Amino acid sequence: MARDPRYDILFEPVRIGPVTTKNRFYQVPHCNGMGYRDATALATMRAIKAEGGWGVVCTEQVEIHPSGDISPFIELRIWDDSDVPMLARIAEAVKAKGALAGLQLCHNLTNAANLYSREIPLGPAELPVYSPFNDPVQARAMDKQDIRNLRKWHRDAALRAKRAGFNILYAYAGKLFGGAMFFLTRRYNTRTDEYGGSLENRARLLKELIEDTKDAVGDTCAVACRISVDELLGEEGLHAAETQDIIAYLGELPDLWDLTLSGWDNDSQTSRFAEEGYQEKFQTGIKKLTSKPVVGVGRITSPDYMVKLIRSGVLDLIGSARPSIADPFIPKKIEEGRIEDIRECIGCNMCVAGDHTQVPMRCTQNPSMGEEWRRGWHPEIIRPKQSSAKVLVVGSGPAGLEAAMMLGRRGHEVILADKARELGGRLAKERKLPGLSAWGRVVDYRLGQIEKMPNIELYRESDLSTEDILGLGCDHVALAVGATWRRDGVARFHLKPIAIAPDADALTPDDIMAGARPKRRKVVIYDDEHYYMGGVLAELLVKGGHEVTLVTPAGHVSDWMRNTMEQHFVQGRLLNLGVKLITHHAVTAVGADSADVTCPFTGKTEVFGDCSTVLVTARQSSRSLFDDLNVREADWADQGLKSVSVIGDALSPGTIAAAVWSGRRYAEEMDVPKDPDAPLFRREVTRLSAGPFYWSS
Ligand code: ADP
Ligand code: SF4
Repeated sequence: MARDPRYDILFEPVRIGPVTTKNRFYQVPHCNGMGYRDATALATMRAIKAEGGWGVVCTEQVEIHPSGDISPFIELRIWDDSDVPMLARIAEAVKAKGALAGLQLCHNLTNAANLYSREIPLGPAELPVYSPFNDPVQARAMDKQDIRNLRKWHRDAALRAKRAGFNILYAYAGKLFGGAMFFLTRRYNTRTDEYGGSLENRARLLKELIEDTKDAVGDTCAVACRISVDELLGEEGLHAAETQDIIAYLGELPDLWDLTLSGWDNDSQTSRFAEEGYQEKFQTGIKKLTSKPVVGVGRITSPDYMVKLIRSGVLDLIGSARPSIADPFIPKKIEEGRIEDIRECIGCNMCVAGDHTQVPMRCTQNPSMGEEWRRGWHPEIIRPKQSSAKVLVVGSGPAGLEAAMMLGRRGHEVILADKARELGGRLAKERKLPGLSAWGRVVDYRLGQIEKMPNIELYRESDLSTEDILGLGCDHVALAVGATWRRDGVARFHLKPIAIAPDADALTPDDIMAGARPKRRKVVIYDDEHYYMGGVLAELLVKGGHEVTLVTPAGHVSDWMRNTMEQHFVQGRLLNLGVKLITHHAVTAVGADSADVTCPFTGKTEVFGDCSTVLVTARQSSRSLFDDLNVREADWADQGLKSVSVIGDALSPGTIAAAVWSGRRYAEEMDVPKDPDAPLFRREVTRLSAGPFYWSS
């Protein structure tokens, strides 16, 4: 199909200093948990973005010097010439697919605890490092020589990046990552010399870094400046009015302005807390301050909104991190008039959690993310079928939908059956919970694709028994039948069931999602799962008129959501709603109308009376169909059945991202003979240097 002419404007070339991007789709720098450890995997991931049509594809932040080492996070490094081949591989891979390659030079200054290098961190003032782990490390106030050193490291790194083949290089002053931002914001910059005080003084280091970079590589490379427009801290932090003054002051120096919010949590807000385009009000007006192109982000997935941003003069280039992760082929799909094929980001920040846990990034919507090189998965293409096998997928949750869709793409005949009328499994229900409606895109995208494939038959309201499954005459069966929430208190804290009175009003998330509500006004939610469900149910019940106390053995409510950068937002929302939060405590027994809440440190128990209880604990995989089929393995041959597999939550309850991934894996591996001795996936093994050496007399 041809592209809709109303999107033509998105495909106009834009000049950025000495280089020109072929269109307005700009993949801004984003972390990915691969970095220097998984460089070829990273190069492949970026190349796929370029293949998907992005005009510019950037690296994540690239540390320019060991004194700006952001470990344990795994980013790229450009510390010396030995890093150049690895970086060149990325630049070459991106350019080979027709995009400009951008590299974000970065010295983290006060953000780097230097846990790996053990160098003393540097910053505008002597202050503890800004680290999510509260590392007991302080940055040293930089003297003039330190500033001269920093400028030289930046310049040397720019020259190396140019040699590696990059087209756009960054001077980074955003998100309290790009060290120059610590100089910009009065919170961190208490200097009294020419690098502190007035706005011009605080902007001096950034100005010098831009000038140095232009001077070193500006003949052939564009120099971009990434800046945070607002820290959302009011007058305390860097705020819009002040940043606009900075941009006006430096306006024509860089070849491109790249706008963000700060910190990263504000920049990459989730759909639970912000709508698409949440940065527009901060982007509006910036273009008036400079003639240079401006790029900005905001979880932008709608092509109409992209056009609006360009036409209304807010942005010149549509910046994207998460939407390009969820669907690296957005530009191609718009270009080919396939808007309905776009796999929209759901704004869950599972990708961010990959970086925060120092593993290759994963994405709920795009299971191939991080697996492009490692397992050879592509976001759009899958190996054609190697047999005429007919496959039955039981269950239409995230795992079943993904398995059926990808098997369908391979060309197999597929039957997808679910006992429910509304397809989507857990997501059919969870998408109705407060703040989670965008998560329904996982279902909508896959159903939209499945409905277009004549080789997939879809059956709703089909509760399949073992007999039914054997009678369908399929070659392979994938059971994607999900899991149920436990009602006995077992999770992390209690490994054995707790005492629950037979007449207790104790509900599980399944009960609540099925429409049940606590009988009493007061409710104790016991959250020993630590992800979103406890907080979301607290929100639901308090809005339904209940008085809610959330009890968790963890030190934070929704503790794991520190990895999605939402924990503090959840805590703020619950407190504002009047939810009482009790951390470091466990529910140890549930009475007819009470809950025992115990402090594990002191052993003291407080009895909460006149309350219902909601247990958000572990889940149990639904294995009965699998067990029955296994018992009847002798019948398989008669029915022509070759394999029965369990996937998704039915195999092991986990995240939605894990279930989608499991469905993809099934579709990839279903008919591939397994070699038990073969490695599970490719990995990059460090080349050994000479050694071992140590000094001895
Ligand atoms: P996952 O996250 O692994 O995809 P879900 O819990 O989201 O799992 O989805 C499981 C789906 O399986 C639900 O929609 C449920 O209705 C369906 N299901 C469970 N048992 C059967 C069965 N015997 N026949 C058909 N569908 C089933
Ligand atoms: Fe979007 Fe979630 Fe994928 Fe991140 S993990 S790109 S937020 S869908």
